Amino acid sequence: MGVDYIIVGLGLAGLAFAEQLEKNNKSYIVFEDNSQNSSLVAGGVYNPIILKRFTPVWDAIDQLKIAVPFYRSLEKKLNTKFDQPLDIYRVFTSIEEQNNWFNASDKPFFSEFMVPEIIKNTNQFINADFGFGKITKTGKIKTEVLLKAYRSKLKEDNSLRSEQFDYSMIEFEDQLIRYNNIKAKRIVFCEGFGVKKNPFFKNIPLREAKGELLTIYAPELKIDFLLKSSVFIMPLGNHYYKVGATFNWTDKTLLPTKEGKNELLNKLEKIIKAEFKIVDQVAGIRPTVKDRRPILGQHHKYKQLAILNGLGTRRVMLAPKMSISLYDHLENDKDLNKEVAITRFY
Ligand SMILES: Cc1cc2nc3c(=O)[nH]c(=O)nc-3n(C[C@H](O)[C@H](O)[C@H](O)COP(=O)(O)OP(=O)(O)OC[C@H]3O[C@@H](n4cnc5c(N)ncnc54)[C@H](O)[C@@H]3O)c2cc1C
Repeated sequence: MGVDYIIVGLGLAGLAFAEQLEKNNKSYIVFEDNSQNSSLVAGGVYNPIILKRFTPVWDAIDQLKIAVPFYRSLEKKLNTKFDQPLDIYRVFTSIEEQNNWFNASDKPFFSEFMVPEIIKNTNQFINADFGFGKITKTGKIKTEVLLKAYRSKLKEDNSLRSEQFDYSMIEFEDQLIRYNNIKAKRIVFCEGFGVKKNPFFKNIPLREAKGELLTIYAPELKIDFLLKSSVFIMPLGNHYYKVGATFNWTDKTLLPTKEGKNELLNKLEKIIKAEFKIVDQVAGIRPTVKDRRPILGQHHKYKQLAILNGLGTRRVMLAPKMSISLYDHLENDKDLNKEVAITRFY
C-alpha cells in the first residue's frame, strides 16, 4: 500500500493536518490508539484575549482568521454542529481591574472583542460585587463531537487504523518510509504528550501540564455564558456545567485526583452560591512548551519524519494555522516562522 503521509495521533493537531492533506489531494493513513485524551476532555474554548492581564494571545488575529472558516467548513463537510458561540464574562475583583478593562478595551485589537462597559451582576447565585467584563466573538469547539465525527469519516474512507503506532517498525528506504505493508513519503507525528514515547522526538522540551475538570449539575445557576474567575464555569446545557481547570506540572498520570477535585471545589465555592452536585471528573495532559510556542518541523537527520506538537493550552486556535505552515514547509519548501520551528532547539 502506498500513501503520501502517515499521521500518528488524531487529536486536534492530527485532524488539522489530515484536513490540509485532503485539501491538497494527498493520500494518508492515520494511526490512533486512544492513549491520550487531552483533545477529548479539554474545554475547547477559543478566545484571543488573555483574561488574567487583558493582553492579546500571541498571533491571535491571524490564527482566528484561519480557525473560524476552518471549523465552519468542517461543520458543513461532516454535517455536524460542534462550534458553539459563547460570550465570556470575566469577574472583576477590584476597581483597579475595572479600570484596566476600560484601558484595554479602548485599543484597536481589543475593541473588537471587549465590550467597553461594566456589566452589573444580577444573578443572586454568583459572587461578583465588582461586576463583569464581557468578551464577544468567542466560543467553544465541542471537540468530543468533532473528533467522533471525524473518526467515523476516516473509518468510512478506510484511512484510520485504530492501533498503536510502533516506532521500532519504521524502515528508511531512500526518500521513503516503510511501515509494515505501508510505503509513505513522510510521517507526521501528532501524539501530544504521547510523543515522550517517540524515540525520534522524545527530547523536544515539552512541559506537560496536567489539567483536571469537573462536571457539575446546578439547576439554580442558570447562566448561558462562560463565567471566568479563578476557574471557568462553562454551560453544557440542561443545567450541567464544566468547571476547570487545574494546572499540575508534576503529576503525569491521566487519572483524576482528590487534590484536583478539592482545588476546583474550593475555588468554585467562592464564585457561586448555588447548590450543585458533582457528576464527573476528568483529567488530561496539555503538551506545553517552555517558550509557549508550538513545535513544528522535520527531524534533524531523517527528513521524512516531521512533528506537529506543543499546542499547549490553545490548540483550538493554533491547530489550523500550524497545520498549514507545516504543510507548506514540507511540500512547498516555505520557511517556518522561527518562533515555532523545531530548529530553535537544535
Ligand atoms: C484540562 C484541559 C483543558 C484544556 N482546555 C483547552 C481549551 O479550552 N482550549 C484550547 O484550545 N485548548 C485546551 N486545552 C489544550 C488542548 O487540549 C491541547 O493543546 C490539545 O489537546 C493538544 O492536541 P494534540 O492533538 O496535539 O494532542 P492530543 O489531543 O493529546 O492528541 C494526541 C493523540 O495521539 C494519540 N497517540 C499518541 N501516541 C500514539 C501512538 N504511538 N500511536 C497511535 N496514537 C497515538 C493519542 O491517543 C491522542 O489521541 C486543554 C487541555 C486540558 C488537559
